[in-house]
Amino acid sequence: MDRLREEAWDRALHADGTAYLFKQRGRFYKILVTTSTALALVPAIVVGTVALGGLDPRVAVAVMGVVGIPLALLSVWSLAANWQDRYAAATQSAGVNQQLDDAYKQLLADATVDEAEFRRRLQVLQTQDGAQRDRDLNQHVTDAEMRRGLRAALRTRGKECSTCNLKPTDMKPTDCGVCGEFPRQWWRR
Ligand SMILES: [Zn+2]
Repeated sequence: MDRLREEAWDRALHADGTAYLFKQRGRFYKILVTTSTALALVPAIVVGTVALGGLDPRVAVAVMGVVGIPLALLSVWSLAANWQDRYAAATQSAGVNQQLDDAYKQLLADATVDEAEFRRRLQVLQTQDGAQRDRDLNQHVTDAEMRRGLRAALRTRGKECSTCNLKPTDMKPTDCGVCGEFPRQWWRR
């Protein structure tokens, strides 16, 4: 039973850390998607303003000459890098991992379950967890992101890191190879 509980704790910690890193990714891609969508509207706004007589067509041509190519490049880049899909994947994973973390914690807190029931419920969660981990693999999570996520999960739980034996109280990276060594800025990976 102790081994099963330990497995559930480890899985909850992992799910919590993964939820954290995908929430951050979601925030990052949301900014990219929103900005590129807004900028893509610039040509339509310029043309519309000319049509309404609010802008000299020669000025409009000059404006588009300056911003046209950067805007086209931006939209090609946004399509090639699949920001929209990455944003959707991050949101999906953050949600599922959050639910998994809650479910593991609920199972651990339930004093009425015997060993057989615990094992059965853990297996169900592990199957869901495994499917999500497969999906997450396609998102190419970096080791630094995993360490940042683990630090966040340890901090939430008030637990110490098994390697540096420190309880994280903030998200400032240390030189620990398990709960540190990630870029200080949240948008970098
Ligand atoms: Zn550590």
